[in-house]
Amino acid sequence: MSSGKDVDVVVIGGGPGGYVAALRAAQLGGSVALVEKRWLGGTCLNEGCIPTKALLETTTRYRALQEAGEFGISVSGYELDLDRVRQRKDQVVERLVKGIGFLLEKREVRYLEGEGALVDARKVRVKLNDGGEETLRSGSIILATGSTPMALPIPGIDGEGVMGSEGAMRLEDVPPRLLIIGAGAIGAEFAQIYARLGSKVTVVEMLPRAVPMEDEEVSRVLARSFKKAGIDLVVDARVQRIEDSPGGKKVAVAAGGKETSIEVDRVLVAVGRAPCVEGLDLESANVRVERGKVLVNEELRTNTPGIYAIGDVTGGLLLAHLASAEGELAAENALGEHKVVDHRVVPRCIFTQPEIASVGLTEEQAKAQGQELKIGCFPLSASGKALIHGEAEGFVKIVAEARYGEILGAHIVGPHASDLIAEAALAMRMEATLDEVIETIHPHPTLCEAFREAALAGEGRPIHTL
Ligand code: NAD
Repeated sequence: MSSGKDVDVVVIGGGPGGYVAALRAAQLGGSVALVEKRWLGGTCLNEGCIPTKALLETTTRYRALQEAGEFGISVSGYELDLDRVRQRKDQVVERLVKGIGFLLEKREVRYLEGEGALVDARKVRVKLNDGGEETLRSGSIILATGSTPMALPIPGIDGEGVMGSEGAMRLEDVPPRLLIIGAGAIGAEFAQIYARLGSKVTVVEMLPRAVPMEDEEVSRVLARSFKKAGIDLVVDARVQRIEDSPGGKKVAVAAGGKETSIEVDRVLVAVGRAPCVEGLDLESANVRVERGKVLVNEELRTNTPGIYAIGDVTGGLLLAHLASAEGELAAENALGEHKVVDHRVVPRCIFTQPEIASVGLTEEQAKAQGQELKIGCFPLSASGKALIHGEAEGFVKIVAEARYGEILGAHIVGPHASDLIAEAALAMRMEATLDEVIETIHPHPTLCEAFREAALAGEGRPIHTL
């Protein structure tokens, strides 16, 4: 540490972006302080990715029991114990949060529980949760304050019985009828969680299809699986207002020029998230913000030298693994590197059943760029392993440019899609072609064979399909 500063790096925000940035900066030999006002691990660990996946695991196993007959097992006498479900979810979270605390301690990161704000380009004031205050002089500052659920400006949205994802996660009970506004990642995951627990779920989506940011074929498979699960999906629709009704909530939905009224017990709002910049006093250091997002360049530097921003607070794709990758990179740059972030290869996953995962361009996006394409698709109905799993809905689709067969994007719907997508991401990162995937022997019987089969189809030489 040179004179005139307390630490080399101050990180504001302890989510998957911030804590990873702090650990990486410390690993590189920097002296580091991490400021977090609420909870280590941020939304992802405490109220997002981890607890939802814990709930999904429970509901997947619950469903497996219901479907055990198909596998030759007769099961009786099982029931859901919501207290135990919540407890298990909380235990998983607690263990991971503790793990981060341990790592920070071992790497000698100074952890300050409180709210950080900029004083100038080199100083952070921390209002400590215990009532004190401290000002840290720092070589660099990394902003990693994440995002919060977006508010929907419709009458009745603040009423009782209307919840956000954090409320849905608490799983206070299983409402007999639930209406979800938004069929994005959060809406789709909770639709399945609650439907499997026994709620009658209706999902209202403003755009023409569920998970509208994904490839169209992906949305089609998800819509089919919603139908099978008894989930009503209403697309091209807008919620106009939410009113109290004797039985719960009455939701007015406008679709196709008509307004209908849907009676439910609870409403979940999942219409996106907005960056958190409030209270950071960014203007004290002249940090530029546009439409609520902190602006950064490809080295994750803001316009103010020495101040970096990573993850959800910069907008773009709001994904924990992207925030973590940016956290590592910002830490390296803060300590003297000039690395640039590669936004071309960012896997996106939605943990529904079937799972959805993608990386790179969709077919529509690649076409819009005017590229000549080779498209390879392999249906999981032809995959031995998918049939063994009893989950043969879905497909692997590869979008490649026609000249060399370089992979531009991949889209997987099916069991373990979120694990399988890593192969596509690596292939894209290595600028691999369809031929190179084909020349790579894949193990059998596995789900990952489907990726090679899709590459074969892309080259017009499928083996297990015609
Ligand atoms: P999202 O942006 O994924 O989806 C929001 C959906 O709501 C969109 O489909 C949008 O068209 C729709 N919508 C918006 N306004 C509406 C309205 N008035 N009426 C009806 N529909 C409306 O946002 P999310 O699902 O809230 O998730 C928030 C963020 O968290 C996202 O960026 C997401 O990527 C991330 N996230 C990721 C995962 C994951 O990777 N598995 C899980 C949860 C959340």
